[in-house]
This record gives sequence, structure tokens and C-alpha cells, in this order.
Amino acid sequence: MSAKLNPWIVAKFGGSSVRDAGAMKKVAHVVGLNSAIKLVIISATYNTTNQLEFVAQAGLRGDENVLNALMAEIETKHLKIADELETSVQGRKDLGVLFQELRALGFQISKDKSYTAKTMDILYSLGERMSSLLIADYLRLSLPKRHVIFFDARKVIKTNSEFQKAEPQIDLIEENAKEVLLERNTPDTLYVTQGFIGEDLQGHTTTLGREGSDYSAALFGEAIRASEIQIWTDVPGVASTDPRICPDARFISKISYDEATALATLGAKVLFPRTLEPAKRHSIPVFVGATQAPEAGGTYVVKEREHTFKLKAVSVLKKENNQWLVSLIGSELHTVKDLPQQFIQFLASGNFQATLVDLTAVSLSVQVSTEERERLHQLAHKFLTA
Ligand code: ADP
Ligand code: ASP
Ligand code: MG
Repeated sequence: MSAKLNPWIVAKFGGSSVRDAGAMKKVAHVVGLNSAIKLVIISATYNTTNQLEFVAQAGLRGDENVLNALMAEIETKHLKIADELETSVQGRKDLGVLFQELRALGFQISKDKSYTAKTMDILYSLGERMSSLLIADYLRLSLPKRHVIFFDARKVIKTNSEFQKAEPQIDLIEENAKEVLLERNTPDTLYVTQGFIGEDLQGHTTTLGREGSDYSAALFGEAIRASEIQIWTDVPGVASTDPRICPDARFISKISYDEATALATLGAKVLFPRTLEPAKRHSIPVFVGATQAPEAGGTYVVKEREHTFKLKAVSVLKKENNQWLVSLIGSELHTVKDLPQQFIQFLASGNFQATLVDLTAVSLSVQVSTEERERLHQLAHKFLTA
């Protein structure tokens, strides 16, 4: 598998990008825009993974009323999408099989009044398996020139048996990807599969950790030596901080792997922290953009680093008991001698007492104790432009 011979793009769509039929149509639009997109990775529909956790909890309590209501809600949500997307007869049948699996698992947990991390991973997998099925069916309908092949990610993403935070087995993944993807490929093939889920060496379903679909996309990208990994979400890229909390956040056009990893690890939800690991191993650029506005462009996460001091972003991570880790992200931060003092003084001007926790080339973290999280976040962001 040579990088030069393989101009494939892997495109991952997150939960809000598949929240309803309208959103799924936008996914098809984005995929249709670029014939280099050869592999589509899908998250569960919005909030479904949380609902599956509620199913397990209701089962644990033996609360069959809530259990039934939750399972019915999940079914109704997916059936509504199937209706609106005019899903094929086969697609509906396949969805029905997944609903049966959901009910069997839910009632089993309720009967046992217990479940294991291993059972939870099977339950979790249903979210991605339902949404990816609907998308694959719709792509077949809406992109008739593409030959859509829907496959189960568990055939490729082999992991250890640490349920709910499984460790991918990189060599096996590469071997399987070759067999499942590259050997069946024609110019028209478009593969569709699930994020988040994998399988251990004994054939048990595993998951990579909550929000882990980004990581799946990167693992697939690495395995096929993709030319680009695209993370399509609900914002047009990585911003200087969470645009939901700071409306004056600015989107960043280019950021290095190390900066983006620091940002994700230190609290920015936009990327799963381990996403950049496989990309970095093979220098594969990672694009982050908004499914609803592909024309808005996005952020490229790339290998190249800047060699001069520059502040790019702020992140805030919740610790215990109203403790917050507030971090500045950028390049060559360690070269500015009094940066920690400047930042601590700036926060003190807003009556936040901060203590230095860590300083690296790409991040400066301080700890603050407060109940005013939003004001802290907004003030810390002002430091970027001050
Ligand atoms: P998806 O369901 O597509 O995986 P997520 O909710 O996991 O989407 O990630 C996207 C969200 O990340 C955005 O809606 C935004 O509120 C949040 N976010 C937090 N920090 C940042 C940041 N620095 N840049 C962009 N988005 C951020
Ligand atoms: N559906 C999973 C979650 O919500 C994985 C993901 O969306 O990234 O955690
Ligand atoms: Mg996410």
C-alpha cells in the first residue's frame, strides 16, 4: 500500500451530522462533491449513544416502563429517518433486526439486573450500526453512479479486550483493511462503515471510548494510507476556543498535529484526543469542517509546525470540585520567559487565582478554582487578543 498510489479520502460524519433525514441528506451532498471520498465513517445519530446508556441504566434498575419507552424512542427516531429517506425494503428489514437485538439486550440486562463493560459495548454498537445502515442505503439511492459497499467496521478495527476503551491493533487493522477495502476496490466503489466500534481477537465487540469515531476515521485513514482524513461536524473547523461559549472565537485555518492534540487533550471537544496519532505517524492531513456548510472551508491539521511564538487557542477542562484546567495552545510557548506570569496576572485582573501546572512548546496550563466557568473561559480567551 503506497501513499502515492492511494489518493483516497476518509470522511467521518459525527452525531449532529446524522441527527435526522435533513442532516443525512447534507452528508450525501458532501460525499457527492468529491469523488476522492472513498470511505465514509458514521457516528450514531445525535444523542443515541447517551440513550443507549440510559437503556442499560433502566435495565439495571429493572425499570421496564422506562426501558420500553427508551427503546421505543430509539426505534421511532430511526424509523422516521427511514421514512423520510425512503429507505429500501432490505434496509428496513436490517434495521428491524437491529431493533430486535436492542430489545433482547435491554431485557437481558433487566432480567440480570446487571451488565458488564462487554455487554455495554454490544449495546453501544447498535447506535453506529443503525445510523450507518441508513446512510449507506441513502447514498446508494442518491449517488447512483457510486457502487456503495456497506461493511461492518468490526471486520477491520481489531482491538485488545479492554471494553469501552479498547486499544487498536494497528498491524491487524492494516491487514484487514487491505482485504476488505483495497482488494475489492474499483473506481466507483464507495465504502460505508461505523465509527467507534471494533472487535477483540476473540470476536467480542469493543469500543474505542466515548466520542471515539474521530479516532476510527484516523485508524482507517492510516490503514489505507489515505491522502486525507476529513472530520465533518457542526462547526466549520477548529476554533480559538469553543464557539458555543465564546461567540468571538475565530476559526483556525492551519494547526499542527501537536497543537491540535494538546487542544483536544486539554478539553476541546471538537476532536477525540487520540485522533491525530495515526495521522501523525504517516503525515496524513486532517481536515475539520461543517457538514451543513462545506463551502465555508475548515481547518487543516498538518505536520508542519511554526517555529515562532504564536498563541492560537484556549481550552478549559473540568477537574474535580470546581477546579478548572485552563490552557493556552500555540507554537513555541516555552520561548517566552514570562508567559505563565503574564497569563496568571491577566486572570487575576478578573479575580481568578491561577497556579501554573504545565508549560510545553505547544501548551501552557494553569489551574483555577471557581464556580464561574463561563466568565473564566471568556476572560482566558481574551488573553489571545489582548
Ligand atoms: P461530532 O458529533 O460531530 O463529533 P462534537 O460535538 O464531538 O461533534 O464536536 C463539535 C463541537 O465541539 C462543536 O459543536 C463545538 O461546540 C465544540 N468545540 C469545543 N471546542 C472547540 C474548538 N476549539 N473549536 C471548534 N469546536 C469546538
Ligand atoms: N457515538 C459515540 C459517542 O457518542 C462515538 C462518537 O460519536 O464519536 O460517544
Ligand atoms: Mg465528536
